[in-house]
Amino acid sequence: MTQMASAKTTTSPRLGESEDIGETVRKARQTAIEMMKKAGFDVGTEVKVVIDPKLAFMGYTMPHGGNFTIVVSGGAVGSGLLEGLLIHEMSHIYRIQTNHPSHNGQILEEAIDNLGKKVVLSDYQQKIVHDLLNDIQDLYADDISFKVLRNSPIIAADQMTRFLQDWVKDEPAKSHDGVMDSWINASMMTHNARAIAQMARHRVEDIGGLAEQANKSFLSQVSPSVAGRFEYFRNLLQNLREDMTAEEYRALLADYLHQFLEIAEKN
Ligand SMILES: [Zn+2]
Repeated sequence: MTQMASAKTTTSPRLGESEDIGETVRKARQTAIEMMKKAGFDVGTEVKVVIDPKLAFMGYTMPHGGNFTIVVSGGAVGSGLLEGLLIHEMSHIYRIQTNHPSHNGQILEEAIDNLGKKVVLSDYQQKIVHDLLNDIQDLYADDISFKVLRNSPIIAADQMTRFLQDWVKDEPAKSHDGVMDSWINASMMTHNARAIAQMARHRVEDIGGLAEQANKSFLSQVSPSVAGRFEYFRNLLQNLREDMTAEEYRALLADYLHQFLEIAEKN
C-alpha cells in the first residue's frame, strides 16, 4: 500500500473522460509490467488494475488466489505518479510471489497476536501498529521499485527527495489525551525514522538537509524516551536484510513492536 502524496492528488476525473482514463491506466499497467520484467522482477500478467475514484490515498493491492488486483485512486491517475505507483504495488506483488517473509500474512498476524490482548486496545492504536508493519513492507517493496525506477524518467531524483522529505514531521501531536499523544508521537518518530532510513537505504540525497532538520526539531519537542529510541528505529529500518529466514523475521518484528510499545505506553 502507499499513501504517497495523498494531499496533492485529490482531483477526481470528470465525467466523459472515462475512456481516456481507461486507456491511461491500461498503458501504465503495460509499461510497469514491462519495466519490472526488464529489471528482473517478472510478476506475470495476472495483475489487474482498477480505479476507485473515491479512494482517499494513492492505491493498494488485493491478492486473491494467485491473482492480484491493484486499486488506484482517481487522483493517482492524473498525478503523473501512476507508473511509479504501479511499480511500487507490483513490487509488493513480487515479494508475495517469491514468499519473502516481510509479505507473509501469517507471520504478520502472529506478530500482532503476540502483543497480547492487554496492549492493543483501540482502533487508532491498531491502525498505528498496522502502519508500523506496513512501513517495513514498503521498504522491502521499494528495494525493488527503486531498482526498477533507477535511470528511468518516471520519477526524477529531486522529486523523490522532496517526496521523502515531506514525510518527515517537525511538530509533535499535542492534545488533551496523554495516552493518544504518546502513541501518535512514538508513531511519528518511527515514520520519520523510516523516511530518513529510506533515503539512506535507497541513496536518495537529503538536499539541504531538510529531512534531518525537521526530524531534529521534532525530537527536541518529544519526551526523551521517544527521542532516545530514534536511532534504534533508523538503524533497524536502514539495515533490513534482503535474505531473512521466517524465524529471523519473526524475531525482528517482535523486537520492533516491543521497542515501539515500550515508548508508546510510557507517558
Ligand atoms: Zn506499499
